Amino acid sequence: MTAQKRHSRERILIVDDSEMNRSILADMLADEFDVTEAVDGEEALEILAKEKDAFSLVLLDIVMPRKDGFDVLAEMNRTNLIEDLPVVMVSAETASAQIERAYELGATDFIMRPFDAFIVHRRVLNTIFLYVKQRKLLGIIEAQIAEKEQNSALMVDILSHIVEFRNGESGPHIRNVRIITDILLRKLLRKTDRYALTERDVSAIIMASALHDIGKIGIDDKILNKPGRLTKEEFAAMQKHTLIGANMLEGLSSHSGDLLVRRAYEICRWHHERWDGGGYPDGLKGDDIPVSAQIVALADVYDALTSERVYKSAVPPEEAKEMILAGKCGAFNPLLAECLVEEFDQIRGALAKDGAQMESHREVRNYADAAIYPKGTGVSERTLKLLDYERMKYNFYAELTEEIQFEYLIEEKILKLSPSGAKRLGVEQELADPARDLRLQTQLGIGWYERLMEHVRATSPALPEFRHECQLRIGGELRWYNIIVRTFWTDGDVPVIESVIGKAVDIHDTHVAMTELKEKSIRDPLTGLLNREGVSEQLPQKLAAFPERKFALAVFDIDFFKKVNDVYGHLFGDKVLCEVAERLVHSTRVHDLCARIGGDEFLIVFDYEGDIRSIIARVFKSLCGKVEDFDVTVSMGVVEMTDETQDYEDLFRKADIALYASKQGGRANYHFYDDSMGDGVPHREG
Ligand code: GH3
Ligand code: MG
Repeated sequence: MTAQKRHSRERILIVDDSEMNRSILADMLADEFDVTEAVDGEEALEILAKEKDAFSLVLLDIVMPRKDGFDVLAEMNRTNLIEDLPVVMVSAETASAQIERAYELGATDFIMRPFDAFIVHRRVLNTIFLYVKQRKLLGIIEAQIAEKEQNSALMVDILSHIVEFRNGESGPHIRNVRIITDILLRKLLRKTDRYALTERDVSAIIMASALHDIGKIGIDDKILNKPGRLTKEEFAAMQKHTLIGANMLEGLSSHSGDLLVRRAYEICRWHHERWDGGGYPDGLKGDDIPVSAQIVALADVYDALTSERVYKSAVPPEEAKEMILAGKCGAFNPLLAECLVEEFDQIRGALAKDGAQMESHREVRNYADAAIYPKGTGVSERTLKLLDYERMKYNFYAELTEEIQFEYLIEEKILKLSPSGAKRLGVEQELADPARDLRLQTQLGIGWYERLMEHVRATSPALPEFRHECQLRIGGELRWYNIIVRTFWTDGDVPVIESVIGKAVDIHDTHVAMTELKEKSIRDPLTGLLNREGVSEQLPQKLAAFPERKFALAVFDIDFFKKVNDVYGHLFGDKVLCEVAERLVHSTRVHDLCARIGGDEFLIVFDYEGDIRSIIARVFKSLCGKVEDFDVTVSMGVVEMTDETQDYEDLFRKADIALYASKQGGRANYHFYDDSMGDGVPHREG
């Protein structure tokens, strides 16, 4: 049987123009499926036209040359192939419109790239088993149950695993129900001869116990896998799985006499009935409930209690037994309750053992298990390793760059931080209601949450990302960070933000370096004063910062400076320039602009109140004076800014004219610009 199964492996068509992508997918799936690859939509359609019944699933990329994923879907719609062959999109495409379009064109599922191997595996299996098999389920049951019992057992195994898988139940549930049924049933027959059952009946009941929930195939996914509590209506719909299962089996008219089918019918229909008539769907009482269903009901309840599920934790076996005996899960046949008490240790022991050892169809079971729960050896291990490697690499670099990675679930109000991020912030990796977390507030400052959410709210499904440079005080140190965030939205008519992922990247060092570099470009390296560029950059800011104040601009030039170089040397010349710069800085105030705008030419922008003349007189006086043997004097031109003369170039030209007047006037003095200088008649001052 195993060999036969191997020959009838499902075939998957992988359509992607990137060889790398195809090979990753093929690698993931090749051990369990036959894989065919197509390099684009056109080739895919050619292959499908030739062998349209050969495939169980298509994995389809969207963006491809020649024909893209949508073209393929459109053609599959035209030929109705989409009805028989499920298509799972695999794409890096995140625009909801594109995803929507794929679904509209009949895609069954959408896997976002980069993907996790496990997810791909699950989804592929999910689709193959549910989409293909579910449609043919009745046919398969009919065909297979007709075979000899050996084959029935195989199909029961696989079918029950599929049901279990779809129900999202824990792996061993069906195995456990079967083991408990086996033990309780045999004990019951030893205890009483009330139930006339042959050995064939017994083995049929044990096997059929695996099918108790087969009717859940017909229950809406949304109800079946709903994480929260079911509403009254949903619960009523859920209860129908007993009747659906029974009807499915009743539909097997040609086999209605088959023992296995009859037992399966009883179990499906009545495994939720209770001894006192308090169960469903028919409200049967006492031994009106077939003993097969009575036993499976107890087995089902016991295993459900003692297993962990996504929505509940496991109850210890002893406690589960007490709960059942106390009637917390409805009433059971008192004889059966006795069996449970007396066989309790045996049940516990049997459940603890490796299930595969207890099975007569071990290979078969393993086949089904391996197909549904990928683990251990083979294809996915290599791919998982590859992805793991990528993940590790990413995390490693993330640690190096000191990123603080985070994820925020809006509705749940849960903030998850990367390990290094949590460490840097000195908080746990998972925080409930971070907006009110005092440690975070101390670290990030009051209002950090509101500021972040303001940016988050400014995103949209079409533009879900933002970047923002800001300073954060983390660990008491104010540093520059780049905040990069992406929002995730629900698909409904009115999309809302579901979650936010992002990172704060420490860019402090680069930021500081860039600032320094920029700072350098506006400063004179010799004196440290601003240069011409610095003045053009800072003057407008200064004017804007003090709108109420008066401004004056002065330009001065050292007298006979060439001589300094000639007589004392260039180095001494530099020293004089630095000394003058220092005198300038000391005689002006911090927010006056001081610049060296040429060889020995300087510029000052004053903002002032009162009389500029006394300020100029004082500054002029302090600039002059000996540097060693050289007696420094300067010539200066000053212009007062009026509402008409706001233009820097114009002011500078006027100050220069006044400076020229001072040089002409014999140096070592200063002149205020006035319009009469336009005709070149400077007048002397001070
Ligand atoms: P005036 O009184 O007319 O201003 O005469 P001056 O000799 O000062 O002439 P001018 O202002 O035209 O001369 C500027 C000189 O400054 C020219 C150049 O040799 C010198 N110089 C320019 N940049 C530097 C510098 O960075 N270091 C030194 N040591 N000298 C410089
Ligand atoms: Mg000079």
